Amino acid sequence: MSPEPANCPLCGAAAERTRAAPRGYLYLCPACGPYHISRSALACRQDIPASARSDVRLLRAYGHQPQIEVCRDGVRIVPGRR
Ligand SMILES: [Zn+2]
Repeated sequence: MSPEPANCPLCGAAAERTRAAPRGYLYLCPACGPYHISRSALACRQDIPASARSDVRLLRAYGHQPQIEVCRDGVRIVPGRR
């Protein structure tokens, strides 16, 4: 699967994304770094909290692959697989 150009839903920078299982994308953003986001989270990107960017950076600093997903209470950022 080849990457396609897409703006980062977190910071708006020109980034690229690749389809990733299950039902989501792997974004490679020059500012935020790599992270996963589910399709449903992408669909309500206006609900992504402003703190998401620092959460993503923090999780990666601890060696996690950040994952953005939708839960009952809204969009959340969770540590994904290493
Ligand atoms: Zn970004």
